[in-house]
Amino acid sequence: EKLDQGLEKTKKNFLSKLGKKLVGKSKVDDEVLDDLEEVLISSDVGVDTTIKIIERIEERVKKEKFFANELDGILKDEIADLLAESNQDNVEEFDLPKNTKPYVIMVVGVNGVGKTTTIGKLANQFKLAGKEVVLGAADTFRAAAVDQLKVWGERVGVPVIELGMNKDPASVAFDAVEKGVEMNADVVIVDTAGRLQTKVPLMNELSKIKRVMSKVIPEAPHEVLLVLDGSTGQNAISQAKAFTEATEVTALAITKLDGTAKGGVVIGISDQFKVPVKYIGVGEGIEDLQIFNKHEFVDSLFK
Ligand code: GDP
Repeated sequence: EKLDQGLEKTKKNFLSKLGKKLVGKSKVDDEVLDDLEEVLISSDVGVDTTIKIIERIEERVKKEKFFANELDGILKDEIADLLAESNQDNVEEFDLPKNTKPYVIMVVGVNGVGKTTTIGKLANQFKLAGKEVVLGAADTFRAAAVDQLKVWGERVGVPVIELGMNKDPASVAFDAVEKGVEMNADVVIVDTAGRLQTKVPLMNELSKIKRVMSKVIPEAPHEVLLVLDGSTGQNAISQAKAFTEATEVTALAITKLDGTAKGGVVIGISDQFKVPVKYIGVGEGIEDLQIFNKHEFVDSLFK
């Protein structure tokens, strides 16, 4: 329901634009396809993914000869297929792999995208599921980041490992993973500084943190979660590009999908980066993090 409300603007933007374009049309001709292309691009689906969708629909028009009034159903199918291709292993609930303890999640992303909030919300969900959680405040470049994570730690009731501001992020990450092992915790979630610098320093910084974590647990980090702000549309796509080039991102959290008209960005991002969207943020509250469900997402868009 929260998702439906959240995607209301995206849906309005999308379906009403499409509806207007289709008035009086019966055949799906080049003009209709051009209009559809325009609507998809203006809904932040992204150019590459839009072209892919249009090509697929063009193929289907040739074979199936459907009419303009069937176009939204066809489009819904195609979007669902695209999401299915990049989100094969959709998770059902806030859960952790059974035989990995602690499971180490390194969280990356640019400042302001909702990284700290997402970590707080995740910690809360794991805690509610009866898991032992440890947080690591390795975003040491901003005093506020460490403090903010401490506030979340208190709120959720989980320990936050920190060394203060300007300390080496890798040391904090090391301590956090070590603490997780010592406490026999289920999950360690480490916040990192999200400075979008040039590629090489970002790459070096992230790989140093990863290397240090793996000194404690060879497989750590088990997950590199990139947080993106969905309301920034194409900016989120360029950030995804920068981070996936700098490190191996294994999962995505897309925040601020409440009240944005740019929800189409989820489709473009999952198609282009082939990294599963695992979580979506649909509000500022502690409960406002959901497991991404591709079926629900597509249903909400076309309801
Ligand atoms: P960080 O700098 O990436 O750690 O970002 P923060 O976690 O501090 O979040 C920045 C702002 O975005 C805060 O005001 C959050 O409350 C807000 N925020 C985070 N996630 C969401 C979301 O899913 N929806 C909305 N509406 N706001 C969010």
